[in-house]
Amino acid sequence: MRILITNDDGVYSPGIAALAQVASRFGQARVVAPDVEMSSAAHAITASRPLSYKRTDLHELDAWRVNGTPADCVNLGTSVWEKVELVLSGVNLGPNLGNAMWHSGTLSGARQASLLGVRGIALSVPAPEDSPPDFELIKPWIASVLEILITQPELKLVNVNFPAGAPRGILWTRQSVRHYDGKVVPGKDPMGRTHYWFTVVPVEGTDEDTDRWAFERGYVSMTPLRLDLTDEAQLARAKKLVSLKRISFG
Ligand code: MN
Repeated sequence: MRILITNDDGVYSPGIAALAQVASRFGQARVVAPDVEMSSAAHAITASRPLSYKRTDLHELDAWRVNGTPADCVNLGTSVWEKVELVLSGVNLGPNLGNAMWHSGTLSGARQASLLGVRGIALSVPAPEDSPPDFELIKPWIASVLEILITQPELKLVNVNFPAGAPRGILWTRQSVRHYDGKVVPGKDPMGRTHYWFTVVPVEGTDEDTDRWAFERGYVSMTPLRLDLTDEAQLARAKKLVSLKRISFG
């Protein structure tokens, strides 16, 4: 099985090397990742300029770097290297929980795979400045997660978050959507000019069985996702309330 590995932290992040090393046990692994950090790039693609694809020396892995986004890397990687069956994105240095999924470049790498009809798995771990993740500790858990997910071909897109420290176990979860943790914080630059940082605020009170709930309790969280964003209840309601005639042109 051909496994393409990307991320949004850039090809030199320790997280992608750890992931590729574990993935190599499950198939033929190739790293195709952004040449610089693309965190919070979400699902952007580069359409205004050509992309480069350069071989990269990385722990004896088959690795390539692209001057583009995670979604670009998946498009390019699966095009240059055909018959990829699985795309892994991560391991991101920082969690991607709840509404953060909308901004996540990590998840977008996996989601782009899903759009192309290839299975995608995004993986993230907290990485505070004072305690960087111990990938030797996490590697067996990455292997367990891949063992579970690879044997379930109906799971097309899954978002995985590892907790801080040694996990207590693995749980199936749903996306927590109750709170949005994004916040704009004003500040002053050295010239006295006002500038703004987009940052996150801690979220309090998490619903049981959500990704954040599991993560905060020390479990590995696995959330199956879908591409269809349709609000079925609202669609049914709108159809009942507002009768629209189908208009044909020409
Ligand atoms: Mn990142």
